[in-house]
Amino acid sequence: MAAPILSERELEFMLYELFDAEGLTERLRYSDHNRETFTMAMNTSRSIAEKYFLPHRQLLDNCQPTFDGEKVHQPSELKIALDALFDSGLATATANFELGGMQLPGIVANAVGSYLSAAGGVAIGYTGLTNANANLISAHGTAEQIEKWVVPMREGRFAGTMAMTEPGSGSGLADLTTSAVKDENGDYRIYGNKIFISGGDHDLNENIVHLVLARIKGAPKGIKGVSLFIVPKVLVNEDGSLGKRNDVALAGLFHKMGGRAQTSTALSFGEKEGAIGYLVGEENRGLYYMFHMMNEARIMVGTSAAVNALTGYQYALDYAKERPQGRLLSEKEPSSPPVNIIQHPDIKRMLLAQKAYAEGAYALCLLGTQLDDDVRTAPTEKERTAAHLLLDLLTPIIKSWPSEFGPKANYLAIQVLGGHGYINEHPVEQLYRDNRLNPIHEGTTGIQSLDLLGRKVPMKNFAGFQACIAEMTKTVELAKKSKSLNKYATELAEAIDVLMNTTHKVLSATQTMNIDAAFSNSVKYLDLFGHIVIAWLWLKQGIVAEKALLEQPHESDENFYRGKLHTLQYFFSAELPEIFHWARIVSDLDTTNFDMQEEWF
Ligand SMILES: Cc1cc2nc3c(=O)[nH]c(=O)nc-3n(C[C@H](O)[C@H](O)[C@H](O)COP(=O)(O)OP(=O)(O)OC[C@H]3O[C@@H](n4cnc5c(N)ncnc54)[C@H](O)[C@@H]3O)c2cc1C
Repeated sequence: MAAPILSERELEFMLYELFDAEGLTERLRYSDHNRETFTMAMNTSRSIAEKYFLPHRQLLDNCQPTFDGEKVHQPSELKIALDALFDSGLATATANFELGGMQLPGIVANAVGSYLSAAGGVAIGYTGLTNANANLISAHGTAEQIEKWVVPMREGRFAGTMAMTEPGSGSGLADLTTSAVKDENGDYRIYGNKIFISGGDHDLNENIVHLVLARIKGAPKGIKGVSLFIVPKVLVNEDGSLGKRNDVALAGLFHKMGGRAQTSTALSFGEKEGAIGYLVGEENRGLYYMFHMMNEARIMVGTSAAVNALTGYQYALDYAKERPQGRLLSEKEPSSPPVNIIQHPDIKRMLLAQKAYAEGAYALCLLGTQLDDDVRTAPTEKERTAAHLLLDLLTPIIKSWPSEFGPKANYLAIQVLGGHGYINEHPVEQLYRDNRLNPIHEGTTGIQSLDLLGRKVPMKNFAGFQACIAEMTKTVELAKKSKSLNKYATELAEAIDVLMNTTHKVLSATQTMNIDAAFSNSVKYLDLFGHIVIAWLWLKQGIVAEKALLEQPHESDENFYRGKLHTLQYFFSAELPEIFHWARIVSDLDTTNFDMQEEWF
């Protein structure tokens, strides 16, 4: 039997032991669900992943999409797999029952989707983007827009995209130039060029609904003059049938290092009569609405990075258990059989690091989806507001930490396989290439670090920051009660102090020095904050594991929990101390980066 792509035990631990997914069934929205329905969704996902996506992962990597001037070509296996996913209901796992969805809690849907993501990589991105697009229109569109665009997306007939980036406007969306002019019907004509638009053209669906950021003629400069439009590939008649092609053209496809199953497109809007677009919400509030989709997409990106890391770790682990090579230094007998490489301490180091990064990152992403769920369905207003605050603060970390440390885990997976990891007969090199996108799209790591330090930490008079410190401190207090975890509690408390002092230093410095200089180590600050959050989540896992061990579990479970505790030890001894170095650079206001002159390079 083929090795599993993800550990089922790990997913169960996360859902039911670290988080309380079952408890969500007490909320009205999820009252038709129970652990059995969650397990059924999980099993369906695994079987679709293994039957339709996994066997074609390499094919979709090798056969990048092509464009013959009229049509995009992709292997037929992709459409078959996506149709199977859609027919199972899992593509709209969180959507309302009446729209054909499964109305699963976000955290469960996230875990369910992990099998698909592990086997299908970015192929799943088609459904993820479509859902996020439909969710945005559901939240900010009119009833008519919901009927016209969201319903067919939920039915799997239409796909959705987010079209923000332009050749001259990537990280700096304030400079986008795509324009919109009101026509005689009160709709808008859109003119401009977008690049890197994922799923911007393909034949997998009847229609594609682009959500396009554009500037209405005469709008204020900067982000305050950006509006959001629904711009379909094919116009839709009053009765819902498809009409004529809109003036949206595929200008070309990008060919990529990884993530090749999903088309990356350059789109031209309005080269002829102007592409018809329908305003979402009010004029000039486009970026605010787009954040609805971007925040969801940022958790999706973090999750995809974490799942890639988990999958690579699983392959590396299975390989290390079976690959005999070399002998331990302590073995003096040359004719003794070689050991499996998992016995070499350096291989254990690389597996431990992968486990620590991947499971830590995954816990963070599930926390993100849990908070997102709480924002919408927690019983009291107070709980919903608290969840919103914490999620807002953590979003740049949820997006970036897995995206930075996930590829590091994949790098180590390749190293565990040696030369066999470098060739494409084994999937770890593809996982690495696929994962390398994640620090780039949905806001680069650099941009996320500025968002964290400049906006999210000080927002609402540090309310989100304080809430995060309070949550971490609660875990410290709990862990202090345990003899074996007390040491980690002390170390985390010390790390939290470092975080508070560093934050104070760098933000106070902006009063007296150039902000570009003060923030020139913002990525180090993001790393520091991220490592502390992950250490917190590892301590939480340790508390669960320690408690479970007291109940004398079955042998395989005992091994599982001991593995958790040992990885906690690894993270605290090998990873967390990095923060002292990063903190020094940030709080000493080291201006080495800032001071470097262009001419000196
Ligand atoms: C495969 C792929 C899929 C994508 N999918 C989509 C999509 O579906 N929809 C969409 O709209 N876009 C999409 N993008 C675009 C993506 O979001 C952008 O590539 C990304 O935001 C960075 O923009 P850029 O490429 O123009 O780089 P730039 O903005 O030019 O950035 C280059 C470098 O400069 C740094 N930098 C830029 N500005 C600053 C600053 N102010 N301070 C500090 N550092 C800065 C960045 O961090 C980066 O390291 C996709 C991109 C790729 C590669």
